Amino acid sequence: MNRHNSGNTEIKIQNNKDLAAVCGLYCGACGIYLATREDDTERILQYAVVLNQTFDETLCDGCGAARKSLHCTKMCTFIDCKKAKSVDFCAACNEFPCQVLIEFQTKMPHRLEILESQIRMKEIGIENWLIEMKNYFSCPRCSTASSAYHLVCRKCGNTPGSKFVSQNKDLIEQYLLK
Ligand code: SF4
Ligand code: SF4
Ligand SMILES: [Zn+2]
Repeated sequence: MNRHNSGNTEIKIQNNKDLAAVCGLYCGACGIYLATREDDTERILQYAVVLNQTFDETLCDGCGAARKSLHCTKMCTFIDCKKAKSVDFCAACNEFPCQVLIEFQTKMPHRLEILESQIRMKEIGIENWLIEMKNYFSCPRCSTASSAYHLVCRKCGNTPGSKFVSQNKDLIEQYLLK
């Protein structure tokens, strides 16, 4: 898999450590984060309905941010666990990858690469990892940020919407058809 050599040098890099989730997810590719950042009321409301929470409870600036979607605050056990283990993220833990993390990883396509992501984060540091992730989840043609479920770029229509999608297309498509 070639996930690191994007060849795209035009993306303006903004490192934001809040986007590095404890579990290895890149919150910059989360639809809720993107809708919040883009102030897209309609999309935020759609997520709120699906998650059965209010509009304000749905707004999210990333795993490490003060404002976080209620469903992630409620269901996530990783933050308390990393505190108990005195680590910054799971790959630094001597139980990595624990069974809880493996089970979490297998349930949805946007989580498919979290273990690999954790290892990469440990290898190159969070700041460099964030740069790689931003490229990995952006349109190869116009650099628009994508969620893990954008098969097609929402701005220019390029297929795939990102390198992540191109690596995991079949599983994402099967999941979206359910
Ligand atoms: S909703 Fe969860 S996965 Fe999405 S940006 Fe917020 S913390 Fe990250
Ligand atoms: S026990 Fe598992 S969830 Fe907890 S910090 Fe270690 S790897 Fe992460
Ligand atoms: Zn595009």
